Amino acid sequence: MNLTDAIFHDDEAARIHLEAQRWPDGPYCPHCGECEAITRLAGASTKPGLCICKSCRKKFSVTVGTVFESSHIGLAKWMLAFRMMASSKKGVSALQIERTIGVTYKTAWFMAHRIREAMRVPSPDPLGGPGKVVEVDETYVGGKESNKHAKDRKFPLGHGGKEAVVTLVERNGEARSFHVANVTSKTLRPIIVKNASRKSHLMTDGSRIYPKIGEEFAAHSVVEHGDGEYVREGFHHSNTAEILRNSVH
Ligand SMILES: [Zn+2]
Repeated sequence: MNLTDAIFHDDEAARIHLEAQRWPDGPYCPHCGECEAITRLAGASTKPGLCICKSCRKKFSVTVGTVFESSHIGLAKWMLAFRMMASSKKGVSALQIERTIGVTYKTAWFMAHRIREAMRVPSPDPLGGPGKVVEVDETYVGGKESNKHAKDRKFPLGHGGKEAVVTLVERNGEARSFHVANVTSKTLRPIIVKNASRKSHLMTDGSRIYPKIGEEFAAHSVVEHGDGEYVREGFHHSNTAEILRNSVH
């Protein structure tokens, strides 16, 4: 795909491209994980790409939960900046982005920063493997949501209005965190089976959502954390860069 491709100049073409990348099997709801009861909204006044989930009744588009969400920068410009940064061996400065795609220096700097975070993918391979342990746990970050008016909340309340993050950690290895709309087997299973080798020994808390997922793995153990805060040494759940990065892919 060269730079004359429509995805680098036309926001609508860029959106269709992004959908093909992010939703190879069709749209899924980023709010509840629904992947079948989804309807695309059509109509002259509807923003292209808008979908509605029949399970949770929420609307979404492909950019929800990505670096592109609520960005005032057009998707085509994002694609161009991604392309510049991905194809350069020496690295691309914010100044080069500013000049090439025609945004302010401040915007270019912001984009470069976000793109670097998004591209910092250590390994696409699943965590764990034969004889290895992969721990899964959920945590809740933030808490400002509860202070917002109901209509402005991005996530339903519960857990003090914090946002749910699920983390997979290979023992003595890499950790990956994912932002989820809520903690259910429907939202967690796709993340777990995609990011942990089924040949691993899965370790989770005693939540009732895990026994069924655990059956798909070589072994499954349950660890009770008690009521106290569960803190893993040397690992920070509030790694928003990592959450963002994972939500892009
Ligand atoms: Zn939904």
